[in-house]
Amino acid sequence: MIDLVDIDARPTLDDYATYLHLRPAVEQLRETADQYRSAFEGRTVWMVNSTAEGGGVAEMLPTLVSLLREVGVATEWAVIGTEREAFFPLTKTIHNLLHGAGDPSVIDEQEGLYATVSRELADAFEERLGPDDVLVVHDPQPLGMGAVLKERTGVPAVWRCHIGLDYDNAQTKAAWDFLQPWIAPYDQTVFSLPNYVPDRLKDRATIINPAIDPLSPKNRDLALQELTSILVDAALTASIHPPLTPPYEAVVKRLQANGDFAPATQPEDLGVMFRPTIVQVSRWDELKGFAPLMEGFARLKKRRWNGGRSPLHQRRLDLSRLVLAGPDPASIQDDPEAQAVFEDLTRAYQQLHPQVQRDVAVLMLPMDSLEKNALIVNALQRCAIIVVQNSLQEGFGLTATEGMWKGRPILASDAVGLRAQVREGTDGRRVREAEDPDEIAQTLDEMLSDAELCEAWGHNARNRAAERFLVFEQVRQWIQTLYAVLEQETA
Ligand code: UDP
Repeated sequence: MIDLVDIDARPTLDDYATYLHLRPAVEQLRETADQYRSAFEGRTVWMVNSTAEGGGVAEMLPTLVSLLREVGVATEWAVIGTEREAFFPLTKTIHNLLHGAGDPSVIDEQEGLYATVSRELADAFEERLGPDDVLVVHDPQPLGMGAVLKERTGVPAVWRCHIGLDYDNAQTKAAWDFLQPWIAPYDQTVFSLPNYVPDRLKDRATIINPAIDPLSPKNRDLALQELTSILVDAALTASIHPPLTPPYEAVVKRLQANGDFAPATQPEDLGVMFRPTIVQVSRWDELKGFAPLMEGFARLKKRRWNGGRSPLHQRRLDLSRLVLAGPDPASIQDDPEAQAVFEDLTRAYQQLHPQVQRDVAVLMLPMDSLEKNALIVNALQRCAIIVVQNSLQEGFGLTATEGMWKGRPILASDAVGLRAQVREGTDGRRVREAEDPDEIAQTLDEMLSDAELCEAWGHNARNRAAERFLVFEQVRQWIQTLYAVLEQETA
């Protein structure tokens, strides 16, 4: 019912600090840890969630746990499970309701199940919990277990909610009503952005932004030859030279005009290393705004600029290409929504003018190796002159963070998570209406008109990501938050 997750060896703070630009953030984390470390002596901090693999939380926890350990906060990661088959469908329903979707009536009938499983999990967990330990419970699945443990043992307990919607409707209200008694015993809650804190929790909420790991395969620097190898091995680029490494077992596939897939070099090489390439990487989700972005790009290619473009601006526009990339269809077979979104996008692609079609690449990235997938995303984002995230709604938008960290100017929509990251006219541009292709075309045009400004925005974006959205800042905030909870206990 409760499994401890082993964490593979990861970079140490010394490893991070060998990169000059990471040193200030590493130092700041060390200073904070020095200041508060003694409060954590003799305690274990328990991070609890419901899966060791898949999803953003499971992706982020290994780095968080390993850095907390390194700075002297003993931390364990535990994953809950249950044989009661209706439990995770119930928590999935709650998850969807918190996002404003689904039928709110079904959860009330299942209060008993949620209470039973929460008690069973607490029974299983209790023996592991030392008298001075601290609980950090992620998302609704283990929330109830933590509440039971808190009530039984008085353990300091924090609930970390990774889910967010910035408006209320009947669905969110029903979900928060359901969760309320289980949240009540906790000392503190943590949300990703202020907009996601429900009114009833305003006096007990801390904000900790999501963060990226600058040495992960998705974000680490790529030396020039490594980058080109990735492009060649993933069949994104043709090379006339003998390859250093064999091609990846599964390579990138590109949507063709007839609806089939072929290597990304067909009908012709994309030229991602040579042409002004505009890149968006996302799941195939309607809310990611792929379709209006593609239409915006198509209109950009056709539009005239009042007053005339400079020859360089015009040339940049003529040569520009749009890359829309997401996970391979085989990996989304059990996701009918993603399939449907992809089919709609395929139809829209097929309707593009053949000349525009040639300049748009809809790419399926292989998912058999998550590391290779991450390296491909990394390489694509590094080849981009503009990284786009045109989401209709966005919880945070790590793809924007990833682009910012890589020093790319960002074209983002005004969705809450993106608004929190990308400053209009400082880190890039924000379109007000993600579904307005004309606004997208105009904004892209303006960005393509001024390479120097874009370079300055990329620079600002990188600094902002370095200061605010790297994992060191996240760990620092966790130490401060947990310290405050422990202080409250002893007060
Ligand atoms: N991503 C990926 N491969 C893909 C598509 C997406 O690795 O084929 C990653 C992307 O780089 C980012 C994450 O999935 O790290 C998506 O996080 P984000 O916060 O942007 O959106 P979410 O998918 O959580 O709504």
